[in-house]
Amino acid sequence: MKEQETGTAISGGSSIEYADMLILRFGEFTLKGKNRARFEKTVLRHVKEMVKPYPNVVLSKEFGRIYVQLNGAPAGELAASLKNVFGIASISPVKVALSEFDDILSASRTFLEIIAPAPGTTFKVNARRVWKEFPHGSIEMNKLISTPLLQGYPGLIVDVKSPQMELKIEIREGHTYIFCENIPGVGGFPLGTNGKAMLLLSGGIDSPVAGWSSMRRGLEVECVHFYSYPYTSELARQKVVDLARVLSRYAGVIKLHLVPFTEVQTAFTGIGQDNLIITLMRRAMLKITTRLAEREGALALVTGESLGQVASQTLSSMNVIGRATTLPLLRPLVMMDKSEIVELSQMIGTYDLSILPYEDCCTLFVPKSPTTNPNLRIVDKIEATLPGYAARLDAAVAGTETISITPYGDEKPSDVVPVQAGLQEEWF
Ligand code: ATP
Ligand code: MG
Repeated sequence: MKEQETGTAISGGSSIEYADMLILRFGEFTLKGKNRARFEKTVLRHVKEMVKPYPNVVLSKEFGRIYVQLNGAPAGELAASLKNVFGIASISPVKVALSEFDDILSASRTFLEIIAPAPGTTFKVNARRVWKEFPHGSIEMNKLISTPLLQGYPGLIVDVKSPQMELKIEIREGHTYIFCENIPGVGGFPLGTNGKAMLLLSGGIDSPVAGWSSMRRGLEVECVHFYSYPYTSELARQKVVDLARVLSRYAGVIKLHLVPFTEVQTAFTGIGQDNLIITLMRRAMLKITTRLAEREGALALVTGESLGQVASQTLSSMNVIGRATTLPLLRPLVMMDKSEIVELSQMIGTYDLSILPYEDCCTLFVPKSPTTNPNLRIVDKIEATLPGYAARLDAAVAGTETISITPYGDEKPSDVVPVQAGLQEEWF
């Protein structure tokens, strides 16, 4: 992991198409001794999913890293998608040579020619002989390679302490890897290694960010969206499918449960409790999602709530709403400022979709003055006395449709899979 600490990014945002291979390094979870093998395998499966559109790519795994042989696949495009794989700490695009001195030198020359460091760039060669049969040791190789390189590039200045460009040469049996860049990966824990949770996904800015944050901590996430046809349009539904598709870039495949919510919502109208409508709706969402969680084997619910953001997100509201479920309710954004959430949503690529103006099921039923301080006893009583309420919740669960969404394409009717108890989708 030494490269990681000392890596430089000399070519900045410029093309990395010189690369024959990408080296992916695992992140923080490597500390967790006994889980390591399982975690590494999970990352490998996730990477496999991400490289599916590039049939020439060949993957191999070694202790602490994954090799991605490109065989003509675009290095920049692949690095951009692979750096989003949770559990990957860094990516180096590498030029591959045979582990023979002449080949290493000539590949290093080619590498420098392509990178074309500006005159005055400080430089050092950092060779590492992993394969002990190679005739020259690491320190000797530093000299043997840097001397001819410096002759060919008089503009380079040697600086062994903190060079702008560190040309790393890793000599292994068979092949040698030449590289100078470390592209930071997203880190975190490999997908699903910390269990599964249900994400309440609205069309807003917050919940997709909450989903991404959960996935980054190693949670497998299934999305649940409540829609109120005919009050909410096909476009609103499509927006959520599109948001889930962005999330699927981080997951390989993601399930989206679409819950028909109209009948449940209309149960709350005309009962003279308009200021409690949002509280009642949120609780209904949690109750239904808890049922779906049980069916899918998920152990927690995730929302995009953030303390104080709106009337339903005061501490008092959160208390009354949260009691509608017995499962742990995770609120990854609870202490974050809106500006921080917006920044993350831009980074993960959901922001532009989230700000599209389509209506959400709840905005349609928003009362003039939603309460910021609901009373749990009153809420419990309303729910207990609403005629046919339990049946409406049952019908919403029964009417839920499930789609599996991938980063690549349009979901066809065949992708709408019936939900079975305990269905575990093996996407890898
Ligand atoms: P978001 O931007 O995520 O919509 P918000 O700040 O607009 O959040 P609310 O609309 O009050 O907040 O929703 C709070 C949380 O309730 C959301 O983050 C989401 O997890 C959940 N939620 C709201 N509406 C829906 C919906 N139609 N389907 C599923 N979950 C929803
Ligand atoms: Mg919202």
